[in-house]
Amino acid sequence: MCGIVGFTGNRQAAPILLDGLSKLEYRGYDSAGIAVRDGENETEVIKEKGKLRVLAEMTNNGQAVKGCCGIGHTRWATHGEPSAVNAHPHASDDGNVIAVHNGIIENYQELREKLIKNGYSFHSQTDTEVAVKLVDYYYKKYAPLPIEAIARAMVRIRGSYALCVMFKDYPGEIYCARKDSPMIIGIADGETYVASDVPAILKYTRNVYYIGNMEIAKLEKGAVTFFNIDSEVIDKKLTEIKWDAESAEKGGYEHFMLKEIHEQPKVIRDTINSVVTDGLVHFDTVSLTDEEIAELEQVYIVACGSAYHVGVDLQYVIESLTSLQVRVELASEFRYRDMKLRGKSLVIVISQSGETADTLAALRMSKESGVKTLGIVNVVGSSIAREADNVFYTLAGPEISVATTKAYSTQLVAGYLLALQFAKARGEIADERYDELLAEINTIPEKVERILEDKERIQWYSNKLVNVADSFFIGRGIDYAIGMEGSLKLKEISYIHSEAYAAGELKHGPISLIENGTIVISVVTQDRLIEKTVSNMVEVKSRGAKLMAVTTAGNYFLEDTAEFTCYVPKIEPLFAGSLSVIPLQLLSYYVSIGKGYDVDKPRNLAKSVTVE
Ligand code: GLU
Repeated sequence: MCGIVGFTGNRQAAPILLDGLSKLEYRGYDSAGIAVRDGENETEVIKEKGKLRVLAEMTNNGQAVKGCCGIGHTRWATHGEPSAVNAHPHASDDGNVIAVHNGIIENYQELREKLIKNGYSFHSQTDTEVAVKLVDYYYKKYAPLPIEAIARAMVRIRGSYALCVMFKDYPGEIYCARKDSPMIIGIADGETYVASDVPAILKYTRNVYYIGNMEIAKLEKGAVTFFNIDSEVIDKKLTEIKWDAESAEKGGYEHFMLKEIHEQPKVIRDTINSVVTDGLVHFDTVSLTDEEIAELEQVYIVACGSAYHVGVDLQYVIESLTSLQVRVELASEFRYRDMKLRGKSLVIVISQSGETADTLAALRMSKESGVKTLGIVNVVGSSIAREADNVFYTLAGPEISVATTKAYSTQLVAGYLLALQFAKARGEIADERYDELLAEINTIPEKVERILEDKERIQWYSNKLVNVADSFFIGRGIDYAIGMEGSLKLKEISYIHSEAYAAGELKHGPISLIENGTIVISVVTQDRLIEKTVSNMVEVKSRGAKLMAVTTAGNYFLEDTAEFTCYVPKIEPLFAGSLSVIPLQLLSYYVSIGKGYDVDKPRNLAKSVTVE
């Protein structure tokens, strides 16, 4: 799930590569490298373990490297430890082929053995080196034609890849190939760019091509030609990126995560407005018809990480508003289950990047079973967006912080709108209730804004958590779903051990872990379940736990039990998750920075998980 950047033009390539890679560091940051060629001269390869700044220092921000054609990479290791040897670019021993790669070559062992028999030797532990040498092998064996050599290698490789390759015999040219890993190609006057994601090249061009699965591209200065796997030229449509460059930067905030937390009112509003006009939800852009919805009996929501938590919340919402049965599934489990999907089912897959490997596989499996599919996706043109039968785009814009906030919130609100439309299309909601609920959804952005205005209180309380070792999040129903997200957020960026439990489950085991000073954070917004959860809070308090509560304004009696109470504005309980999650995001953020951690780039994690 690394970041790739390539450039060919008339300017010095290295500074452009480093600048582009800096926008992609959220994709991987355990090592970085560039390969740059100055005309016909030997290609210079510089790579090192560590963050990109190490490479920037080694090259004086790229100024020390001559040449107008090059490729660069920030790595998130899958095969072989983070090290200079395993860092990309990788090259054939004679320097004939040099490449960077994002993804996993699943049959790399088998290919490695084949290449060893043919006289190749290997220096790194990576699967990437195998791909590079396989291309070199076909190039030398059949004909010195880059497209053919890459196409032959693609036929032999199983797995996922975005590959950028430079050949010794073809100075000034970069060859790209893609299967199941993201890659875009940008074009400007006399210059051509390739990158894993838009922010890397937005500063230079807004005109991009999306390279499809099993396609190859040849990049020359200001020109690109696309080929299919049979090496035939194919046509592509140029797309103009409408994002504003500012929105891919930090915009004055100390961290991307804080900036993205603050963007939530806007992006939630944008997402609502993308499908709501004149007081009604319209799914023209999603393309799911009322007739199709009316026929459904079963909904599966399949996702990973925070998107899975969105699914858990939506399960309660959809089941409450409709007669549909809803099952929420972890994509990594769902894809390997021998499950018989029922005919009148809709599989909803949720993924910010639209490239999450397990979610994409679950989508494909569902399509093979012949059921309808819908993707809730943030990245336009991503694999899930292209492959799902229907797509609901969240309008969160680029999310850079590894810990999701705004993408999560837009996914949740997209789910509410789906649930509401499901109820309407199936004749399961009265017009009055529909209007009332839609009006409530419309209040979410402004209510999120109000919570953000009170962030100093949360910052104050978070200082008390900086030294804790363990924490628990409890809640019932939707509050449990939000607790799951709050718990993940805290553990992923502050490295505090944390678990989320359905409050009623405490007695069945976890309560034995409660001792003096254990932190228990309870989410208490569901009116009909408040008393039950408060009983569970009292149970842990009497065993020494310190309690924080996130609840709805008006529930002031919770202050008798909790050490710290955080209030969110009143809202229809079905949509309370959109509000109660905000204090938990802020809490995690402040605990993480209080501990002095790199909040936007937590250890061992990467933004989009494009490998299994
Ligand atoms: N599999 C390759 C490696 O381990 C690329 C991983 C990635 O996509 O970052 O180096």
